[in-house]
Amino acid sequence: MREPTVREVMDALSSGVVWSAGADALQPGASEELGGGSDALLHGDASAAVRGIAVAFTATIGVLREAASSGANLLIVHEGAYYSHVNDPGELAGSAVCAEKRRRIERSGLAVYRCHDAVHRSAPDLIAEGLVRELGWQMFEVRHTPAASIVELPMPMAGERVVRHVKACLGLERVRIAGSLAARCRRVGLLVGYRGGAKLAVPLLDRCGADIVLYGEGPEWETPEYVRDAAELGGRSAVVALGHLESEQPGMKLLAERLQARFPDVPVRFCPVDPAFRSL
Ligand SMILES: [Zn+2]
Repeated sequence: MREPTVREVMDALSSGVVWSAGADALQPGASEELGGGSDALLHGDASAAVRGIAVAFTATIGVLREAASSGANLLIVHEGAYYSHVNDPGELAGSAVCAEKRRRIERSGLAVYRCHDAVHRSAPDLIAEGLVRELGWQMFEVRHTPAASIVELPMPMAGERVVRHVKACLGLERVRIAGSLAARCRRVGLLVGYRGGAKLAVPLLDRCGADIVLYGEGPEWETPEYVRDAAELGGRSAVVALGHLESEQPGMKLLAERLQARFPDVPVRFCPVDPAFRSL
């Protein structure tokens, strides 16, 4: 068996062939809310042979430990390793935490590849597909756009029941809800990651007929205030903020499975990350 190089895995990811039969799987320029240009080898040598791959939402200290002790020498993450969407940490680089993390990565021998834009540019967005699948709603998806997925439940459900289902499937202790859960819910809109702003969420409620919109995170004064006013005016729709990690981690789990299928001779391990926030 010939081990692939880090470069070969990176090329398979950036061209989209990991999750589709063709290299034309990506939609150029579609759905990049933060400008693109994020996918990059953050650490390591592109010519190194890959003995094992670990996949995680982000490179926490715990993930680094788990990846290295599993025998992986390539870690694939969705978000930046240094607490910023842009890969260059800028002034943060001098912080004690950044410096220690860098030291640990270098000592571990892990190559770290950031895979953000390509998974969002696939059609459908692989990260959104992962969330729909984790919720068991693949059969009910009626539409997807570059930014959103729309699911039509087989029969109307009480809004609270939908929220309880989401929490159970994603293993969440809490979610935040704004608006009204009074209506029976038939259509659910899903927006992963940082797509919870009014520009993306409100059209799902107004034009796509969603009764509930689930999103990762977004400005609190936009969509939540819109549905609050809508409820005051007699509207019966709600939004549920899942959290950024909570909405996107299932997509990275799906990516790990697709990678394993693409590189069957290389062990691929998904490293789940607990939400950073806890409630008191
Ligand atoms: Zn994302």
